[in-house]
Amino acid sequence: MPLADARHFIEALALANPDADSELTFTDPYTLLVAVVLSAQATDASVNKASVGLFADAPDPAAMVALGEAGIAAHIRTIGLWRAKARNVLALSRTLIETHGGAVPDNREALEALPGVGRKTANVVLNVAFGHSTMAVDTHIFRIGNRTGLAPGATPRAVEDKLVARIPPTILRPAHHWLILHGRYVCKARAPECWRCAAREWCRYKDKRVSPGSPADADPLPPPAD
Ligand code: SF4
Repeated sequence: MPLADARHFIEALALANPDADSELTFTDPYTLLVAVVLSAQATDASVNKASVGLFADAPDPAAMVALGEAGIAAHIRTIGLWRAKARNVLALSRTLIETHGGAVPDNREALEALPGVGRKTANVVLNVAFGHSTMAVDTHIFRIGNRTGLAPGATPRAVEDKLVARIPPTILRPAHHWLILHGRYVCKARAPECWRCAAREWCRYKDKRVSPGSPADADPLPPPAD
Protein backbone atom coordinates (compact mmCIF):
# COMPACT_ATOMS: atom_id res chain seq x y z
CA MET A 1 0.00 0.00 0.00
CA PRO A 2 1.49 3.39 -0.94
CA LEU A 3 2.29 5.69 1.96
CA ALA A 4 -0.40 8.20 0.96
CA ASP A 5 -3.04 5.46 1.00
CA ALA A 6 -1.77 4.23 4.37
CA ARG A 7 -2.31 7.71 5.78
CA HIS A 8 -5.85 7.80 4.31
CA PHE A 9 -6.52 4.34 5.76
CA ILE A 10 -5.56 5.47 9.27
CA GLU A 11 -7.44 8.77 8.94
CA ALA A 12 -10.59 6.85 7.95
CA LEU A 13 -10.33 4.67 11.06
CA ALA A 14 -9.80 7.78 13.19
CA LEU A 15 -12.93 9.42 11.79
CA ALA A 16 -14.95 6.23 12.26
CA ASN A 17 -13.92 5.81 15.90
CA PRO A 18 -12.37 9.05 17.23
CA ASP A 19 -12.70 8.14 20.92
CA ALA A 20 -11.15 4.67 20.68
CA ASP A 21 -9.53 3.58 23.92
CA SER A 22 -8.49 0.43 25.78
CA GLU A 23 -11.41 -1.82 26.65
CA LEU A 24 -9.60 -3.34 29.63
CA THR A 25 -10.74 -2.24 33.10
CA PHE A 26 -7.93 -0.72 35.17
CA THR A 27 -7.36 2.12 37.60
CA ASP A 28 -3.60 2.71 37.48
CA PRO A 29 -0.43 1.42 35.75
CA TYR A 30 -0.27 -1.63 38.03
CA THR A 31 -3.81 -2.85 37.38
CA LEU A 32 -3.31 -2.10 33.67
CA LEU A 33 -0.13 -4.20 33.63
CA VAL A 34 -1.86 -7.12 35.34
CA ALA A 35 -4.89 -6.84 33.05
CA VAL A 36 -2.69 -6.90 29.94
CA VAL A 37 -0.77 -9.95 31.22
CA LEU A 38 -4.12 -11.68 31.82
CA SER A 39 -5.37 -10.75 28.34
CA ALA A 40 -2.89 -12.91 26.38
CA GLN A 41 -5.01 -15.23 24.21
CA ALA A 42 -8.16 -14.10 26.05
CA THR A 43 -10.81 -11.49 25.31
CA ASP A 44 -10.84 -8.18 27.16
CA ALA A 45 -14.41 -8.93 28.27
CA SER A 46 -13.35 -12.20 29.93
CA VAL A 47 -10.42 -10.46 31.63
CA ASN A 48 -12.65 -7.66 32.92
CA LYS A 49 -15.08 -10.17 34.43
CA ALA A 50 -12.29 -11.88 36.33
CA SER A 51 -10.29 -8.79 37.26
CA VAL A 52 -13.17 -7.10 39.13
CA GLY A 53 -12.81 -9.53 42.02
CA LEU A 54 -9.04 -9.84 41.69
CA PHE A 55 -8.44 -6.08 41.91
CA ALA A 56 -10.97 -5.73 44.76
CA ASP A 57 -8.86 -8.18 46.77
CA ALA A 58 -5.46 -7.09 45.43
CA PRO A 59 -5.29 -3.54 44.05
CA ASP A 60 -1.49 -3.23 44.45
CA PRO A 61 1.62 -5.44 44.33
CA ALA A 62 1.82 -5.96 48.12
CA ALA A 63 -1.80 -7.12 48.32
CA MET A 64 -1.25 -9.38 45.28
CA VAL A 65 1.76 -11.03 46.95
CA ALA A 66 -0.29 -11.46 50.14
CA LEU A 67 -3.11 -13.04 48.09
CA GLY A 68 -0.66 -15.68 46.81
CA GLU A 69 -0.71 -17.89 43.73
CA ALA A 70 -3.71 -19.96 44.83
CA GLY A 71 -5.69 -16.83 45.71
CA ILE A 72 -4.91 -15.24 42.34
CA ALA A 73 -5.74 -18.46 40.50
CA ALA A 74 -9.13 -18.64 42.22
CA HIS A 75 -10.07 -15.32 40.59
CA ILE A 76 -8.83 -16.07 37.07
CA ARG A 77 -9.76 -19.71 36.42
CA THR A 78 -12.21 -18.62 33.73
CA ILE A 79 -9.33 -17.21 31.61
CA GLY A 80 -7.14 -19.33 29.33
CA LEU A 81 -3.63 -20.14 30.58
CA TRP A 82 -4.72 -19.22 34.11
CA ARG A 83 -2.10 -21.32 35.88
CA ALA A 84 0.83 -19.65 34.14
CA LYS A 85 -0.81 -16.25 34.43
CA ALA A 86 -1.32 -16.65 38.20
CA ARG A 87 2.37 -17.53 38.56
CA ASN A 88 3.44 -14.56 36.45
CA VAL A 89 1.19 -12.05 38.20
CA LEU A 90 2.58 -13.14 41.57
CA ALA A 91 6.18 -13.09 40.33
CA LEU A 92 5.91 -9.71 38.62
CA SER A 93 4.28 -8.21 41.73
CA ARG A 94 7.19 -9.49 43.83
CA THR A 95 9.70 -8.06 41.36
CA LEU A 96 7.95 -4.67 41.36
CA ILE A 97 8.27 -4.55 45.16
CA GLU A 98 11.86 -5.80 45.28
CA THR A 99 13.23 -3.82 42.33
CA HIS A 100 10.99 -0.81 41.68
CA GLY A 101 9.59 0.19 45.08
CA GLY A 102 6.19 -1.23 44.15
CA ALA A 103 5.78 1.05 41.12
CA VAL A 104 5.45 0.05 37.46
CA PRO A 105 8.58 1.23 35.61
CA ASP A 106 8.13 3.74 32.79
CA ASN A 107 10.66 2.17 30.42
CA ARG A 108 10.73 -0.75 28.03
CA GLU A 109 13.82 -2.54 29.32
CA ALA A 110 12.54 -2.74 32.90
CA LEU A 111 9.04 -3.74 31.80
CA GLU A 112 10.29 -6.53 29.54
CA ALA A 113 12.42 -7.87 32.42
CA LEU A 114 9.24 -8.56 34.44
CA PRO A 115 7.89 -12.15 34.48
CA GLY A 116 5.24 -12.70 31.82
CA VAL A 117 5.88 -9.34 30.12
CA GLY A 118 6.97 -9.32 26.47
CA ARG A 119 7.30 -6.56 23.92
CA LYS A 120 3.56 -6.38 23.18
CA THR A 121 2.58 -6.01 26.84
CA ALA A 122 5.33 -3.44 27.41
CA ASN A 123 4.10 -1.47 24.39
CA VAL A 124 0.53 -1.42 25.71
CA VAL A 125 1.62 -0.24 29.17
CA LEU A 126 3.95 2.41 27.73
CA ASN A 127 1.19 3.63 25.41
CA VAL A 128 -1.83 3.56 27.70
CA ALA A 129 -0.35 4.20 31.14
CA PHE A 130 2.56 6.49 30.28
CA GLY A 131 1.58 8.16 27.02
CA HIS A 132 4.46 6.88 24.87
CA SER A 133 4.05 6.68 21.10
CA THR A 134 4.27 2.90 20.85
CA MET A 135 2.47 0.38 18.65
CA ALA A 136 1.59 -2.91 20.34
CA VAL A 137 0.95 -5.54 17.67
CA ASP A 138 -1.66 -7.99 18.89
CA THR A 139 -3.49 -10.60 16.82
CA HIS A 140 -5.86 -7.96 15.35
CA ILE A 141 -3.17 -5.53 14.28
CA PHE A 142 -0.99 -8.35 12.89
CA ARG A 143 -3.93 -9.49 10.76
CA ILE A 144 -4.85 -6.00 9.55
CA GLY A 145 -1.26 -5.14 8.71
CA ASN A 146 -0.94 -8.20 6.48
CA ARG A 147 -4.46 -8.50 5.06
CA THR A 148 -4.85 -4.90 3.95
CA GLY A 149 -1.30 -4.20 2.78
CA LEU A 150 -0.97 -1.48 5.44
CA ALA A 151 2.08 -3.07 7.05
CA PRO A 152 2.87 -6.57 5.81
CA GLY A 153 5.31 -8.59 7.89
CA ALA A 154 6.03 -12.18 8.91
CA THR A 155 6.38 -11.35 12.60
CA PRO A 156 4.67 -8.94 15.01
CA ARG A 157 7.94 -7.00 15.25
CA ALA A 158 8.12 -6.60 11.46
CA VAL A 159 4.52 -5.30 11.40
CA GLU A 160 5.25 -3.00 14.34
CA ASP A 161 8.31 -1.52 12.64
CA LYS A 162 6.39 -0.86 9.43
CA LEU A 163 3.49 0.78 11.26
CA VAL A 164 5.87 2.96 13.26
CA ALA A 165 7.58 4.00 10.02
CA ARG A 166 4.28 4.75 8.24
CA ILE A 167 2.11 6.40 10.91
CA PRO A 168 3.07 9.91 12.04
CA PRO A 169 4.41 9.86 15.64
CA THR A 170 1.80 12.42 16.68
CA ILE A 171 -1.01 9.93 16.10
CA LEU A 172 0.77 6.64 16.77
CA ARG A 173 -0.66 6.41 20.27
CA PRO A 174 -4.36 6.60 19.33
CA ALA A 175 -3.69 4.69 16.09
CA HIS A 176 -2.97 1.62 18.23
CA HIS A 177 -6.55 1.80 19.54
CA TRP A 178 -8.10 2.62 16.15
CA LEU A 179 -6.49 -0.48 14.66
CA ILE A 180 -7.33 -2.85 17.52
CA LEU A 181 -10.99 -1.85 17.61
CA HIS A 182 -11.18 -2.01 13.81
CA GLY A 183 -9.87 -5.59 13.93
CA ARG A 184 -12.13 -6.57 16.79
CA TYR A 185 -15.39 -5.25 15.34
CA VAL A 186 -15.03 -4.74 11.58
CA CYS A 187 -11.95 -6.38 10.02
CA LYS A 188 -12.62 -9.68 11.82
CA ALA A 189 -10.48 -12.79 11.36
CA ARG A 190 -12.86 -15.07 9.44
CA ALA A 191 -15.47 -12.64 8.21
CA PRO A 192 -14.33 -9.04 7.70
CA GLU A 193 -17.29 -6.68 7.34
CA CYS A 194 -15.89 -4.86 4.32
CA TRP A 195 -19.29 -3.54 3.20
CA ARG A 196 -19.35 -1.21 6.21
CA CYS A 197 -15.61 -0.56 6.49
CA ALA A 198 -14.57 3.09 6.54
CA ALA A 199 -11.16 2.25 5.09
CA ARG A 200 -12.20 -0.04 2.23
CA GLU A 201 -11.28 2.52 -0.45
CA TRP A 202 -7.60 2.21 0.50
CA CYS A 203 -7.51 -1.43 1.59
CA ARG A 204 -5.67 -3.86 -0.75
CA TYR A 205 -7.46 -7.02 0.40
CA LYS A 206 -8.55 -8.88 -2.75
CA ASP A 207 -11.51 -10.80 -1.32
CA LYS A 208 -13.50 -7.96 0.20
CA ARG A 209 -16.91 -9.15 1.40
CA VAL A 210 -19.66 -7.08 -0.19
CA SER A 211 -22.49 -8.14 2.15
CA PRO A 212 -23.14 -10.12 5.34
CA GLY A 213 -23.99 -13.11 3.12
CA SER A 214 -20.62 -13.18 1.35
CA PRO A 215 -18.46 -16.24 2.04
CA ALA A 216 -16.07 -15.89 4.96
CA ASP A 217 -12.36 -16.66 4.67
CA ALA A 218 -11.77 -20.40 4.81
CA ASP A 219 -8.29 -20.00 6.15
CA PRO A 220 -7.71 -16.68 7.92
CA LEU A 221 -4.18 -15.65 8.84
CA PRO A 222 -3.15 -17.46 12.04
CA PRO A 223 -2.50 -15.15 15.01
CA PRO A 224 1.10 -14.59 16.04
CA ALA A 225 2.44 -15.95 19.31
CA ASP A 226 2.38 -13.26 22.02
S1 SF4 B 1 -12.13 -3.52 3.45
FE1 SF4 B 1 -12.42 -5.45 4.56
S2 SF4 B 1 -10.38 -6.39 4.64
FE2 SF4 B 1 -10.11 -4.20 4.13
S3 SF4 B 1 -9.78 -3.17 6.12
FE3 SF4 B 1 -11.95 -3.05 5.65
S4 SF4 B 1 -12.85 -4.83 6.68
FE4 SF4 B 1 -10.63 -5.19 6.53
